[in-house]
Amino acid sequence: MNGKVYLIGAGPGDPELLTLKAHRLLLGADVVLYDRLVGDEIIALIPDAAEKMYVGKAKSLHSLPQGEINSLLAKKAKEGKSVVRLKGGDPFIFGRGGEEIEELVEEGVEFEVVPGVTAAAGCAAYAGIPLTHRDYAQSVRFLTGHLKDGSTGLPWDELVHPAQTLVIYMGLTGLAEISDSLQRFGMLGSMPVAIVEKGTTKRQRVFTSDIKNIPQIALDNEVKSPALLIIGEVVLLQDKLSWYN
Ligand code: SAH
Repeated sequence: MNGKVYLIGAGPGDPELLTLKAHRLLLGADVVLYDRLVGDEIIALIPDAAEKMYVGKAKSLHSLPQGEINSLLAKKAKEGKSVVRLKGGDPFIFGRGGEEIEELVEEGVEFEVVPGVTAAAGCAAYAGIPLTHRDYAQSVRFLTGHLKDGSTGLPWDELVHPAQTLVIYMGLTGLAEISDSLQRFGMLGSMPVAIVEKGTTKRQRVFTSDIKNIPQIALDNEVKSPALLIIGEVVLLQDKLSWYN
């Protein structure tokens, strides 16, 4: 009999942000494939009897190519196993979740998708930055600072827009370009920006500055991945609303 694949969002770090469904499925898993963004405390919840497979993701470290991960999921399920594919945050937000289940569909393997708290929601909450606010932002955009070809390729003109919060995933490497381009397209150098490093974990750090100076702030503080950028006037609320740590 065929098994099943559960594509599960593990949230941004704090294990208590796992959903009850994610937790239940993890405890019943025969095989768990996880990547770099899944926190140690969540890995520790995987039962000893389950086969744990690290499939990487860090740019230069050993990691399985995406195609092989997809095939492995299908193979393990066809052996009749309950396979958990655990991803940081939410699997459908910059998580390649779509690519992984496309192959399952083609191979006729059953699956379910379990949403998770995406980094934007988790980091904003734990940093004390509401992503929308009636006085400051009526919309919020989630963007990736990193395309398959290594460039940012962002639609700069659309991003300089009043009352809009920008959340940029994977924006650390391209931070100087992001800062320059937004200002070139008309964003004021004084636009507030926050960087949230390792959000929701015990090692979370939050730095606030403005779009002009944020690249230097990131350098001075040796900010490391995973880090999320939040750009917009809502960042001003952080002073008053921060509660974590
Ligand atoms: N699917 C994930 C995103 C994967 S892309 C989600 O929904 O959250 C990886 C990027 O997510 C990182 O480069 C970083 O920008 C962001 N990220 C993930 N976890 C984070 C965390 N705990 N703190 C800060 N940024 C995080």
